[in-house]
Amino acid sequence: RAKHSGRSTYIWYTPDMDAEAQKRKALEGDLRKALAQDEFRLLYQPQFSLRDLKLTGYEALLRWEHPERGTISPTVFIPIAEDAGLIEEIGAWVLLHACREASRWRDTSLTVAVNISPAQFSPGQTEERVAHALKVSGLAPERLEVEITESLLISDTNAVVKTLTQIRQMGVSVAMDDFGTGYSSLSYLSRFPFDTIKIDRSFVATVGKNPTTDAIIASIVGLGRSLEVTITAEGVEDELQVALLRAAGCDKVQGFLFGKPMDLTDQSASDTVALAQQTRREKLLLTAG
Ligand code: C2E
Ligand code: MG
Ligand code: MG
Ligand code: MG
Repeated sequence: RAKHSGRSTYIWYTPDMDAEAQKRKALEGDLRKALAQDEFRLLYQPQFSLRDLKLTGYEALLRWEHPERGTISPTVFIPIAEDAGLIEEIGAWVLLHACREASRWRDTSLTVAVNISPAQFSPGQTEERVAHALKVSGLAPERLEVEITESLLISDTNAVVKTLTQIRQMGVSVAMDDFGTGYSSLSYLSRFPFDTIKIDRSFVATVGKNPTTDAIIASIVGLGRSLEVTITAEGVEDELQVALLRAAGCDKVQGFLFGKPMDLTDQSASDTVALAQQTRREKLLLTAG
């Protein structure tokens, strides 16, 4: 029986896998032309300080406007770009464009966070790319944060620590993204220089509903306190989560409740965002007490 079900699984999935593989190949080909054809676009998702619900900055999130397929999610094309050796070039574009855009925001206290893929991270070159983007854009280093993921930390530890240290010496912050989902243990954090830990949204989604989640969040916050890093919660979707994250001691929040990733090309948009959040913010302030 097991064998039979195994075989039928095989028969069922093979054509689908071929279709998947073909789509991937097609996308890879298109991806090679995407930069030259100006098909990438950055959206910005607001981040707020939990203490006073003030806008502190934005995370830049990449979108691919495919001429036939429409908008494609980074969860689809980033892995393809990584495998195809295209991520360095795309990553450099993201860094430069995010810094340029942020340098035009009226409120010069706002930060911009940029995701850096482990595949794009190469000691020596990453520092140079960051320095170049800052120089060309004129953005103050203190306004840039780079987000890396745990999987980076299991690679060449010494080289990664050195690069992160150099980036921080420029005045740029380093955030650990999706914390709690990867391989690394809490002890990794003490060995790597970070300014921010972003609690993955899978934990935020179950806060208050799962005692294990609550314990994990409490220990991340506790560790963050002792390492003196900022704790950001990602994927905040409702007000109960805000209350619980506040009680747990998180510093910042980001999520659909406060704002989806949005186009800020029109520079006045950042003012509009602040306005749009005002109502929500006041409501939350009232319920916070
Ligand atoms: P991430 O860096 O963890 O970014 C957060 C993701 O969660 C974003 O998805 C965002 O739209 C989504 N999100 C934010 N708030 C909520 C919420 O309240 N609920 C839910 N369900 N989702 C929320 P997005 O934009 O699709 O990006 C997915 C991932 O793709 C990112 O995860 C990041 O790992 C990667 N990515 C995005 N842009 C870039 C980039 O420029 N370079 C690289 N290397 N990776 C990128
Ligand atoms: Mg991120
Ligand atoms: Mg994340
Ligand atoms: Mg992610």
